[in-house]
Parts: sequence; C-alpha cells; structure tokens
Amino acid sequence: MSSWWCVLCTLVAVGLSSVICRTIFIEENPPTPEELNFMKRYGYLLEGPSDEKTYTSQSVSESVKKMQQFAGLPQTGVLDPETRKLFKKRRCGVKDIESKTAKSRRRRYVIQQSWGRRSISYRVLNGSSTLKKSRVEELIAAGLAVWAPHGGLRFDAVDDHKADIEVTFTSRDHGDGFPFDGPGRVVAHAFPPPHGSMHFDDDELWGDNPDEDNEDVTDFFAVAVHEIGHALGLSHSNVKSSVMYPYYQVPVEKLHIDDILGMQELYLKDDMPQAPETVESTESTVVKHSSLVPRFTKPDRGEEELDEDEIPDLCFTNYDTIQVIQNKIFVFEEEWMWVLSKRKQIDEGYPRRFHEAFRGLPPYIKVIKTIYEKRNGHIVIFHGRSFWEFSSRFRLIKRGRISEYRIPPKVSELTTAFVSNYNNKTYLIEYERFWRFDEATWTMDSGYPKEMSAWRQVPYPVDAAIIWQGDTFFFRGPRFWRFDNNLIQAHEYYPLPTAQIWFPCEETDDMMRYATNEEI
Ligand code: ZN
Ligand code: ZN
Repeated sequence: MSSWWCVLCTLVAVGLSSVICRTIFIEENPPTPEELNFMKRYGYLLEGPSDEKTYTSQSVSESVKKMQQFAGLPQTGVLDPETRKLFKKRRCGVKDIESKTAKSRRRRYVIQQSWGRRSISYRVLNGSSTLKKSRVEELIAAGLAVWAPHGGLRFDAVDDHKADIEVTFTSRDHGDGFPFDGPGRVVAHAFPPPHGSMHFDDDELWGDNPDEDNEDVTDFFAVAVHEIGHALGLSHSNVKSSVMYPYYQVPVEKLHIDDILGMQELYLKDDMPQAPETVESTESTVVKHSSLVPRFTKPDRGEEELDEDEIPDLCFTNYDTIQVIQNKIFVFEEEWMWVLSKRKQIDEGYPRRFHEAFRGLPPYIKVIKTIYEKRNGHIVIFHGRSFWEFSSRFRLIKRGRISEYRIPPKVSELTTAFVSNYNNKTYLIEYERFWRFDEATWTMDSGYPKEMSAWRQVPYPVDAAIIWQGDTFFFRGPRFWRFDNNLIQAHEYYPLPTAQIWFPCEETDDMMRYATNEEI
C-alpha cells in the first residue's frame, strides 16, 4: 500500500493533490515514537502534545520537510529511506532550529551570543577511554586555532581554576538535562556563552584518524572544531560544507565562509575588548575591514509575534541588496522592494513584494541578494547556482545556470553582480573574490578570479555594488563606500551611512559626524 501511494505521489506532484498525497503517505508510513522525539528534540516539530497521536499528518509532513531542508535533502515531506537515515546518523546533540528564530532567521549561519571579549580561557578536565588527556589537549588547542584568527581571539589554557570553556568526556545522564545515548547517534554537545561547556560522549570510540568509511571510530578533531563553534556562540548551519552542519562529517580541513562570517559577526565589533598583545595577529584583510562595519542586529522575535506583513523600516535595517535598474535605484530587503527615481525619493506604490514585480520567480526564493541589469537591458536575478532572466518589461525569459557565465562548477552562488561603466565589463562577485566577464563576447576575462582586496579600502564581502550617475558604490551593512576608479581605492571620506544619504531618513547626531562630503 505504501509504495503504491509513493508512485502516486510522484505522479501528482503539484498543488493541493501533492499535499494530500504526502499526508496520506505519512499516515501509511508514520514516524516511530523515536523518530518523533528526534524531530521534537532538534526543533523541527514544536514541543507540545505528549501523545504523538495528536500531531496531524500535515504537521509531521511539514516537519519532515524542514528536516530535509536542513540536511540538504529533497524536500518531499515524506519519510523516505534517505531521510530515515538521518535519525541514525552520528551527530551533535544541540538543537538545529531554535524556536525563537525558526521563522525570522535569514542568514544561513546563526549566532547566539559571544563572550563579549576576545580573550577566552579553556580547560580539558579528562581524557576519554580511548584518547589520552594530553592528546585531547593537543587536539582542542588545534581546534581553537582554527577559529581564533576569524574573531581575533586568544585562548589560554588553565589548569587549576574554572575556565570559560571546559571540556569533559562523560556518558549517559550527566546532570545537565541532555543525557547521552550510548554508542552512535549523539556524540557530543556544547553550550553557548556564558556557559561554554563542551561534553563528549565517552561511549563513542574516539580517535584521531579521520576516515569517513570507518564507522567505529569517531574523529575527535572534527567534532571538537564543531563544538568549539557552539562554545563561541554559533548555532547549526544547514550548509553541508560548513563546520556547523549538525551531522558528523570528516575530514574537517577548513572553515566554510558561513562559519567565518558568523565568527566575524560575533567578535569583530568595535566595542569588543581586544585580546592582549601576544595574540597572533592575522594578516587577513577580511578581518581588518569587517571590523569597521557594524551591522544592525534585529531583536529576536517569538514566533507568535511574527507578522508576515511587517515591512522593514528602510532607515533601520540592513539591505539584502541594492541595484540600479533602468536608471532607478532598487532596494531589496526580505520579501520587499523599493524603487527610487532619485536619492531620497521613493516612487509611489512602493514598497511592494518583489514577487509581484518578478513574476515567475519560484516561491522558494524568499530574498533577492544578487541582481543586475545586463548590458542589453535584461534583468538577471541569481539564486544559488541558478539565475532567472527577465526582459526590460519584467517578463521572465529564461532560467539558466551560473555555469553559463563560465563560472567554475564548484562555485555555489554569486553574491553580487554589476556592470562597470568604466570598461563595460560584468563583475561577478562571490564573497571574497570576483570574476570579470565580457557580455559582448560571452567570455570570462583571463586572470580571474581575483581577491576582493583589489578594491582597496572597500570592505568585503559586500552586500551590493552599483553604478550611480557615473560613480561606483559599494554597500555593506548600514554603510556605503564610493570607489574612485582613478585612484583605484575608496574615497577617503567614506564610509557614510546608507539610510541618510540614499533614503528619506532623518539625520542623526551620529550621522552628522560623517557629513563632511558634499559631493554626493
Ligand atoms: Zn552542534
Ligand atoms: Zn552535557
């Protein structure tokens, strides 16, 4: 019976029918109590009724979809064999979706809170049954060193008193309300600041020999790097190649850009006390530049308070992206867009939802972060490895893959795109690097990608880059920079606050300190 429904599911893959079909499939093939517990525990199914029968098939199916999305599986809403494997995988015991941020989350990486300083102590209390304490200390030190440069952090080992981060091997019920479960499944968990404890399940066979095929030995270093991320304040990421992905994966070789951005956002703040001198300074310009750039942090809102129709205030927000299209300024934030014919003048009828303007864009696209106007006047929206091209009258013409822009296949998204008025080339940016593309010959210029540091004095990654009245502007967080194509660096009077210069927002005292440049 189940497999018959499954065939039907595949056949009827659209609209309401598929919802009904999935629901029936869940009824035919319901989750076990253990599987329901898993979904509750990791935040996919709301805690509530203790009797699982009171969950509707619909809500279970939605939870399965969330779980599939987080794990990077096709979101069928059905407990297929691939999905069921997740219940058995080795993983971290920390929740994937915090109920507070379940809906309002917009970044892929999620942060909780930092230590509020860059000097942090740690202590290893014991070794495991299979790993000596001295080896654990070495591996923890190596794991901390992976994170340190991205937050400008200094870690000091202490031996005789309470440390910020304490590392313990323990098993089963160990008094913190999150008992371990014997060999396999949950292998470790850690608590964010100001708690900072990291617990490793001593029922695992811990080793330091990363080999994915080795089902018996769990690689301590891989798990430690992940748990340190929690102890520094990061939550789980649904990006499989990030260290903060909740399921066990080896080997861990380097941090993903999401991990790095999360760390920067937590620790590279102007008001954060510096670590003492002896800290190894990093050469990375990303770190130096980003530290100049505060971002608005929005208060966490409970799910019940979320209002789908709430329109962000252009004066107090970040911007997903900004672009000039048909000589007008387009601003995107969440599902909304504003159009301005000139600075500070919002056109009538805005904001409106961008889906109303760009019809044909799939509904799963909830934000627009990368958009540009081609030289032929077409408008291209990038999302992941795909792009959607619209005519100048906003009609969908085609959907394509970014590989058509001769971007290497391993690049999973472009974060900013713009056509320079200086050389008519298209700049395609992926966080820290960019390519230069020639639309006339449809070829990539040689010598690319280059590092974003080539745009001197401009912080990166940038949220947006535009050409406005002959000048090049870069935007990041609430500020922007004007780039001088002759000096090949940002003008000295920048950054300036975006809201007060571009949008009709009242000047604040803080802003007046910057208002020395009359040129723009
Ligand atoms: Zn975790
Ligand atoms: Zn614990």
